[in-house]
Amino acid sequence: MTTFTHEFTSGPFVGKVDFPTGLYINGKFVDSAKKGRIDVINPTNGKKTMSISEATEEDVDLAVKAARNAFETVWGLHTPGYERGRLLYKLAQLMREHAPELIALEMLDNGKSAMLAGLEIDQAISVVEYYAGWADKVQGSVIETTEANLAYTRREPLGVVCAIIPWNFPLSQVTWKLGPALCTGNAFILKPSEVSPVCPLRLASLIHEAGFPPGVVNVLAGYGITAGRAMTEHMDVDKIAFTGSTLTGRRVMEAAARTNLKKVSLELGGKSPNIIYDDCDLEQAVRWSIMGLYAGQGQLCAALTRIYVQESLYDKFVEAFLAGVKHMKIGGPFDPEAVVGPVVSQTQYDRVMSYIEAGKSQGASLLVGGTRHGNEGFFIQPTLFGGADEDAKIVKEEIFGPVGVVTRFKDEDDVVAKANDTVYGLASAVFSKDIDRAIRTGHRLQAGTVWVNCVHGLHPQVPFGGYKQSGIGRELGEDAIHSYCNVKAMHVNLGIKL
Ligand code: NDP
Repeated sequence: MTTFTHEFTSGPFVGKVDFPTGLYINGKFVDSAKKGRIDVINPTNGKKTMSISEATEEDVDLAVKAARNAFETVWGLHTPGYERGRLLYKLAQLMREHAPELIALEMLDNGKSAMLAGLEIDQAISVVEYYAGWADKVQGSVIETTEANLAYTRREPLGVVCAIIPWNFPLSQVTWKLGPALCTGNAFILKPSEVSPVCPLRLASLIHEAGFPPGVVNVLAGYGITAGRAMTEHMDVDKIAFTGSTLTGRRVMEAAARTNLKKVSLELGGKSPNIIYDDCDLEQAVRWSIMGLYAGQGQLCAALTRIYVQESLYDKFVEAFLAGVKHMKIGGPFDPEAVVGPVVSQTQYDRVMSYIEAGKSQGASLLVGGTRHGNEGFFIQPTLFGGADEDAKIVKEEIFGPVGVVTRFKDEDDVVAKANDTVYGLASAVFSKDIDRAIRTGHRLQAGTVWVNCVHGLHPQVPFGGYKQSGIGRELGEDAIHSYCNVKAMHVNLGIKL
């Protein structure tokens, strides 16, 4: 079995890492059936970091059999909630002990800054702790019906859950699914994106060390079109928990519909509006808006990419925003002063640059950025367009890069109409000192999350998910738990004779 060995000499972790890069199936690290390998590329310099095992259909089938067996023999209804919670706490504790290493690995693999990788790992650990606490508190209820009937409900695990996740926040995306799936007693199979699989693979070793029974958790890196599709089409998988593009989300649902009608939860794309009223705290609104648009190089499903500024404040806001952008240093994740890193891959680079060209050719004015930075890796300058037509591609489509559009609006009705004129509905933000108006606007927005005078706040206790084509179901909080359970209604006859 191959391992990845690397010596970090600077950054949040100094020292050697060494962990298996195979598939984790039934409690063992193994090569894939076809022995295929996938090269993982460092986005900072475009060079190969490591190679990992590539799962295909046969491996998926083995993992599903292992998960089903574990679910039916040792996990599911056989392990009490407090024991599942204890194992999840143990995993969280191991993740905390290895947090600096996980942060460094995520910086290397994804190109994220130390700050963003640190926030992600910290959040991922908090999510595992949160669901560890839930494990012995998932309850049904007793329902009053008639005197002769005892009716109560049980929340039972679904069975085998497959999680298919993207490359932008691999560790938090895993825990958002692993936490509620395991705390409710499901067996779990993870397919990370092959673009950014390193932290999920390292997590597999920590899961092993935590002592989950073999088969309860399985980790299979592989391509979406082969391994991912095999999961969505498998007749013995009970649920697919998916995060990624709307296009692939549609394919996941189609496969579920064509096969065993497995349950599906989808966390998809966005084109989120950020509304700046003219009575806002301008300095704060500008700072938050820069973060809302460019954090993670805009590779966030909830990136606030459509900035709407009330007309009397527009010129001042744009001037202050552009001044703020000029101070952002671009560089690799191990440069402590850099705040803008590379996008994740050559594919993503080409995709983002094609949107910048579309913005220019459809007549929007380029206010800042728009070009490559440096001559190695996948760096794109933070970019802002103004004066775009509301039907332009850069206003309508998810770009998933450091590219935004700023537009004027007249009043509340005008901006609510503009903000809601999208097929997406994941997130939004409103900046105003008039809290009545800010909250009223928030209530009128068709989005799963509204941030008032802030951006990107996420907490394990608070549900996250989309309206419209941004998804189905909610992650985080108690809402997520319900989507990993079947509800069974029990009716007990207390003495009626026929
Ligand atoms: P995808 O939706 O293609 O990928 C997400 C995950 O699904 C990956 O693990 C992928 O594997 C897998 N997958 C792909 N095709 C299938 C399939 N037919 N059946 C099952 N699983 C599949 O997103 P990308 O990574 O290609 O990114 C493309 C765009 O998607 C981005 O530019 C962005 O617009 C959006 N996106 C949105 C995210 C969000 O959080 N909402 C996150 C990431 C991307 P593989 O990596 O091998 O393709």
